[in-house]
Amino acid sequence: QVNGWCCGCFRALFDYDKQWDCGVLSQALDFNFGEVLHVMDSADDEWWQARRVNQQGELEELGYVPSKHRVERKEWSRMKSKENGFVHSYELVTQIEDRVNDDLLSEFPDKFGSCVPHTTRPRRDYYEADGRDYHFVSSREQMERDIQSHRFIEAGQYNNHLYGTSVQSVRQVAEQGKHCILDVSAKARKVRRLQAGSASPHRHLHPTTISGEHPCVQGSEQACLSEDQARKALDRAIKLEQDFLECFTGRGLHYPQFPSSTEGLHHQQTSTAQKDFITHKSQL
Ligand code: 5GP
Repeated sequence: QVNGWCCGCFRALFDYDKQWDCGVLSQALDFNFGEVLHVMDSADDEWWQARRVNQQGELEELGYVPSKHRVERKEWSRMKSKENGFVHSYELVTQIEDRVNDDLLSEFPDKFGSCVPHTTRPRRDYYEADGRDYHFVSSREQMERDIQSHRFIEAGQYNNHLYGTSVQSVRQVAEQGKHCILDVSAKARKVRRLQAGSASPHRHLHPTTISGEHPCVQGSEQACLSEDQARKALDRAIKLEQDFLECFTGRGLHYPQFPSSTEGLHHQQTSTAQKDFITHKSQL
């Protein structure tokens, strides 16, 4: 299911040559392993409508690509006699926030750490451990009181359960000499609260805040939105940065390359922002 503006991008995990696919449509696209496709319409069981995303993150021609279902069905029938077969078709391209966090944690384990959040949600029996995945809190009233008395750096509600990051859990990471990475929503004004903590128990924690709001990008940092979606996402990102300018220590905005029809303003911001992003990455 393609949902939301960021979920329409898939990386192909196979080479596709339309000549070899029977039932071929004349408007089908050829592509190679690793290429990113921005799927615009996935309603049909057999064929998705998609645009190829080139190395520069630009959207290219529109055409049809075989759906995940079609690829997997064909491959399964081809491999029927074979025992071991996991069919790779497409993988969803993930958002960069997750990747940045994961990359920092895995590449610099001595510099960065993550903290364990608290929640009032019940533990999922089979795979969650208290203190590892979450601190599972049995008393919602207690967590509400703790939030009131600023024992949480940020907190929110999701599906009627409270979630939050305690000052103590961030401090524990800091005490190991590491930066604790938090993924904080600017829209929910949590970024402001982080910076405005001078009178609260987290006054000795000094946040470095990097704006990572950006249109969807994939591993090699290619954008994968339709032009219109990308432009809207970019406008939202610029507005967000302007609204919260004083909150950010640095910016991690990554703008897509727009086709040459786009006004100069966007082009200029593209290059500046990309440079900032790289600067920040290398400084880290
Ligand atoms: P889950 O219950 O599936 O583990 O998490 C569901 C949602 O809870 C997440 O997608 C996220 O929106 C929210 N969540 C998880 N951890 C935190 C946290 O530390 N703070 C806040 N505000 N929300 C969280």
